Amino acid sequence: MTLNAEAGHGDAVALDAVTRDFGIYRAVNEISLSIANNEFFTLLGPSGCGKTTLLRMIAGFDWPTSGRIFVAGDEMTHLPPNRRPINTVFQSYALFPHMTVAENIGFGLRMLKRPREEVTATVNKMLDLIHLSGRGDQSVTRLSGGQQQRVALARALAPRPKVLLLDEPLSALDLKLRKAMQIELKRLQADTGITFIFVTHDQEEALSMSDRIAVLSEGSVRQLGAPSELYDRPADRFVADFIGETNFLTVDVSDISAGAGRVTLASGAVVGAKCPQGLAAGKATAVVRPEHAQLVTNDADALLRGTIRDVIYLGTDTHLHVTLSDGGHFIVRQQNLTAGTCGVEAGQTVAIGFAEGTLQLLKD
Ligand code: ATP
Repeated sequence: MTLNAEAGHGDAVALDAVTRDFGIYRAVNEISLSIANNEFFTLLGPSGCGKTTLLRMIAGFDWPTSGRIFVAGDEMTHLPPNRRPINTVFQSYALFPHMTVAENIGFGLRMLKRPREEVTATVNKMLDLIHLSGRGDQSVTRLSGGQQQRVALARALAPRPKVLLLDEPLSALDLKLRKAMQIELKRLQADTGITFIFVTHDQEEALSMSDRIAVLSEGSVRQLGAPSELYDRPADRFVADFIGETNFLTVDVSDISAGAGRVTLASGAVVGAKCPQGLAAGKATAVVRPEHAQLVTNDADALLRGTIRDVIYLGTDTHLHVTLSDGGHFIVRQQNLTAGTCGVEAGQTVAIGFAEGTLQLLKD
C-alpha cells in the first residue's frame, strides 16, 4: 500500500513505505500503515524486528532511508523531535532526581513557557489522573518503581502531545506491578484521548491493552488487526506461533468456498475449518488453540488420538501435553472448574475433539 498525496489526513500518524537501512542491513522494510486518532496502537514483535527503529523515526530521533511520515496530516519525515507534536516514554524513564513529583510533571510545560497558573492546574490534574494527589511536593526518589513510572507518564502527557510513544515502558517492573500498570495505561489513554503507540515484545501485554496491533518480523508487518482478529484468525505460522499458544496440524484441504474449507486430518477425520483468502486446495497447516480442544469419550467426536505425556497444573487451567498417534505434539487446555485434580494422568490414551470452526488454516 502506498499513500496518495492526501496521505495521513484524519490520522494521528501515517507511514508511507517507510524504510530504514543500516549499511546493507534493512531494519525496516517499506512499512505503510495508519494509526487513528485516539487509538491505542501496538508494535509487537520479537527482539530485533525493527520496533524501536520504527518508533525512533516516528519520534524524529532517526530518519528513514526512504518513505514518508505524517503526523496529524502534516509530513514530518525530516523534522527534529521538538517540532513534532509527539512525546516519548522510554523504558528507563529517567526522572529528574533533584526535582519534586510536581516539578517533574510540570517540566515540559515550563519549557514551553506556559503561564504558571496553567502549569499548576495541569500538574494537579495529572497528579489526580495517576492517583498521586497530595504527593506533588515529595521528592521523586521517595516513590516506588511503579509510582515513578506513572510520574514519567504524567510528565510526557502534561503538554498534551497528539501522540505518545511508549518504548517498552513496563519492562523494568515486576510482573504484578506490570499487570497493574497495563490497566492504568489503558485507562490513561482512554481518559486523555491521546493516541498511544506502544512497543513491546510481550504478546500478552499487547493483547490486553491495544485497540490494534501490528505484528512485525524482520522489518515488515506480518499482520495488522484487533487483538481478537490476530488471535482467532492469524494470517500465517509466524503470527499464530507468536500470539498465544497454538497447536499446528498438517492437513489436506478440499472444498474451499466463502472463507471455509473441509480438511482431512492425519487421523483420517474430516472437519470444517476457517480458510484465509487465496489458499489453494492440497496440503496445508491448520492451527487450533489449546482451549478450543477437549478430551472426548464419544467416538463420533474424536478427531485425534494420542497418549498424555505431561499434566501441567496451572491453577485456573490444566495443560495436557499429548503425543499424537502420528508422533505430533498437541496441548489441550482444560479449565479447572472444580477444586482437585483434573482426573487424567500421564500415560493415559485419550481422544481429542474440537468444535467445527475452531480450526484455522494458514497461508504458510
Ligand atoms: P528489541 O526488542 O531487542 O529492542 P527491536 O525490535 O526494537 O528489538 P531494533 O532496535 O529496531 O529492534 O533493531 C532492528 C535491527 O536493526 C536490529 O538487527 C539492530 O541490530 C539493527 N540496528 C538498530 N539500530 C542500528 C544502528 N544504529 N546501526 C546498525 N544496526 C542497527
